[in-house]
Amino acid sequence: MTYEDNIRKVTPYTPGEQPKTKVIKLNTNESPYPPSPRVVEAMEKLDWNKLRLYPDPAMSELTRCIADHYGVKPSEVFAGVGSDDVLSMCFLTFFAGEKPVLFPDITYSFYDVWAEVYRIPYETKKLDGDFRIVPSDYYAPNGGIVIANPNAPTGIGENRAFIEDILEHNSESVVIIDEAYVDFGAESALPLIEKYENLIVVRTMSKSRAMAGMRIGYCFGNEKLIKYLNDVKYSVNSYTLNIPSIAAGKAAIEDTEYFREIVGRIKKTRENTAEELKKLGFSYFPSDTNFIFAKPPAGYKAKDIFLKLKESGIYVRHFDKERISDYLRITIGTDDEMHMLIHTLKEILQ
Ligand code: PMP
Repeated sequence: MTYEDNIRKVTPYTPGEQPKTKVIKLNTNESPYPPSPRVVEAMEKLDWNKLRLYPDPAMSELTRCIADHYGVKPSEVFAGVGSDDVLSMCFLTFFAGEKPVLFPDITYSFYDVWAEVYRIPYETKKLDGDFRIVPSDYYAPNGGIVIANPNAPTGIGENRAFIEDILEHNSESVVIIDEAYVDFGAESALPLIEKYENLIVVRTMSKSRAMAGMRIGYCFGNEKLIKYLNDVKYSVNSYTLNIPSIAAGKAAIEDTEYFREIVGRIKKTRENTAEELKKLGFSYFPSDTNFIFAKPPAGYKAKDIFLKLKESGIYVRHFDKERISDYLRITIGTDDEMHMLIHTLKEILQ
């Protein structure tokens, strides 16, 4: 016996690379555009003397602003340090039963890491041949359900009726819908929180609000669920979002016009890029996100292309994982960045 026997050992989630040199970075689904000018203004106006003090542990200014924006009550909103923090708190709070938590085999690769670290039993359900979620897989008894909608890394979104069908079959466990990418396409399950008291809808400011670096995520749910989440949060770390983050989050939510403009631009660039990829012989699923999950033409290996792009200073994501190792996940950048990508791919495929 050594002290090491008492240590919790985990295989961590592997985040996409954050290169130190200047590259075209299409590997972690960040926004190619800066945050709203109102965020910059909020930072400039910040009273830095206030940093002596702890932030408001309830982040009331931010949760009230989010609640107003989405037409829910502040008591139905919970915020955290990125949606990773929110999701992690949800796993810890809602999945304390003995039955397995269910999620797809191909999805956000943090879910199984949280299940492992918190020792939550879980089972993955296979996506079908077209990488779609099979709702009936989630009719089985379970200790909770997690669905990313749109799913990642496939980019495929499902409509609200699809999510509602899963909810109708699962009144005995908490169902979490991770809507990290929902602003780029899919239908949100948010209106369903009034009807299903076991539903949690998770959002992030990292993608459509262009603030991955600020680390702000939030979720919606019935008051009772939010209270349970807060009880766990206050048992782990009371002060999660710092004072600048609270101010920045509020400013970002308030600037709807800017939000719509950059989301619109990203969607347009996505459609143009998809067309260009098709011309090069790539196949892909219609994307409801700010990335495209694409398979290179026959005779080319995704991993080789990934490495060649990297040599040329263009970072995309490749997962060395069963069923998806033939694909590249390409984040939508600016038009110029996507032109560079297509140009470089043309050279590689020659
Ligand atoms: N959910 C999904 C499906 C994601 O792809 C990501 C981004 N890695 C997250 C949640 C977490 O994002 P963040 O912590 O930046 O909000």
